[in-house]
Amino acid sequence: MKRIAFIALAIVAALALPDAQTERLDLATIGRIKEEGLNRSQVMDHISWLSDVYGPRLTGSPAIQQASEWAMKKFTEWGLANVHQERWKFGQGWSLVKLNVTMIEPQVQPVIAYPKEWSSGTKGPVTADVVRVNIRSEADFARYRGQLRGKIVLTQPERAVRMYEGPNILRMDDKWTAEAETTPVPAPSAGRGGGRGGAQEFRQKVEDFYVAEGVVATFDRGSDSDMANAGSEMTWMQQHPDGGTVFPTGSYARDENAGTSVPGLTLAVEHYNRMMRVLDKNVPVKVELNVETKFYDEATQGGMAGFNTIAEIPGSDLASEVVLLGAHFDSHPYATGATDNATGSAAMMEVMRLLKTLGVKPRRTIRVALWGGEEEGLLGSRAYVRDHLADVETMALKPEHAKLAAYFNSDNGSGKVRGVWMQGNLAARPIFEQWIAPLKDLGVTILAPRSVSATDHVSFDNAGVPAFQFVVDRLEYNSRTHHSTMDTFDRVQRDDMVQQAAVIAVFAYNAAMRDEKLPRKALPAPQRGRGTNPSAQQ
Ligand SMILES: [Zn+2]
Repeated sequence: MKRIAFIALAIVAALALPDAQTERLDLATIGRIKEEGLNRSQVMDHISWLSDVYGPRLTGSPAIQQASEWAMKKFTEWGLANVHQERWKFGQGWSLVKLNVTMIEPQVQPVIAYPKEWSSGTKGPVTADVVRVNIRSEADFARYRGQLRGKIVLTQPERAVRMYEGPNILRMDDKWTAEAETTPVPAPSAGRGGGRGGAQEFRQKVEDFYVAEGVVATFDRGSDSDMANAGSEMTWMQQHPDGGTVFPTGSYARDENAGTSVPGLTLAVEHYNRMMRVLDKNVPVKVELNVETKFYDEATQGGMAGFNTIAEIPGSDLASEVVLLGAHFDSHPYATGATDNATGSAAMMEVMRLLKTLGVKPRRTIRVALWGGEEEGLLGSRAYVRDHLADVETMALKPEHAKLAAYFNSDNGSGKVRGVWMQGNLAARPIFEQWIAPLKDLGVTILAPRSVSATDHVSFDNAGVPAFQFVVDRLEYNSRTHHSTMDTFDRVQRDDMVQQAAVIAVFAYNAAMRDEKLPRKALPAPQRGRGTNPSAQQ
């Protein structure tokens, strides 16, 4: 008898299971989100304000503060709650005030160039001869000692400019979809490799040498980034640092050593190579240069120049639990930070506007966080994790850690959402499979198991909460706009952005309405040295 009762119970439980795993999606509201999002989107307007009016938004600069005030005003207008900034220590701010680079001999030519971030200025216009150096080790200093005073120095060899083959725009086709869906979760890396310290140290010695030798400024032409992945089919990953687009690399100190190096600029490769070839002919090259930059003491910002901009839609029966939406708000200073990352920030802002406009009543609180300091090392998202969730160095958890239902990040340009990088959190797959079903008509089909890195969801993944970055069509993000002087509104694709915001709004709503929080991976081990202060990121 007992045995029959037990079998009956097991059958009932088994029959119950499919129900337990079936998401109870509110298709009516999902339909309304899509309708509002696809037909009355304001995302492009947000992007234009953030990039055309407030770009670039370098952390610590006045522009990012102005942009945050604009965003907070919008949040307040939309009726969001708890609109505020959360601050953290950063160092000195910086902005460019004036720039003129003109070759005046052998002929006059305006030069396309951009100072590296936190570069010092020339203290007014200077005219100087251009020379080149080849310093590969400290032994090379002797060769140039006493010869560089009052000169502008070319620091790199010429770089060949190639014509381009292969697509430089990526829309996820069957091939790349299969690649994304089948690439396994990589084995956890034993933390970050070392060896950058040495290069950094030598770079500092070279800069000190230039200061000691009275060099006026240094010119380079950026890294050999067009050769990245050379020969691979991923031609869309290759930067196109030519044709007037410059990808400046490296930045100067923003601590007590800020402003102590000679000014450093990255030139359009074509303009740089011309100077090299003229010098090859022993014909003099002379440049008129005026670089004016400004540093902002952190003390003027209450000793904490870094900040995150936060707002929320309060929940109801599960209000103490949070669905967190994030995107970095800061950018490099080279253009207007349109696709990196006004697009992600605007998409998350639009999600909040959409949901508020529709008057949805989420069960969990939906919170948006626009991070500062991502480009300097995920500083803002790490500060949030440290202040709200956990000390990842010891993995001591804070009460809010258990209350975070999910974190969603957008930071891959203006392409439409094609799916989700699962970050190795495969228990979420059956859930997302059901979430993307009503989004298939918008092209959302990919659930890619592997982890992606180098942006803010990593701060949350490292703290052991469910964190995801969306798979988007990369378009010309890598080849043209990512960290370049051409990261402007013109490169933002409207239809893609409209879709991106609408799809993320559906994910946010589903996460806020389901009975359970999203599943979690095993809690990571303590990460010594990974608390704050970082390495450069995306
Ligand atoms: Zn970014």
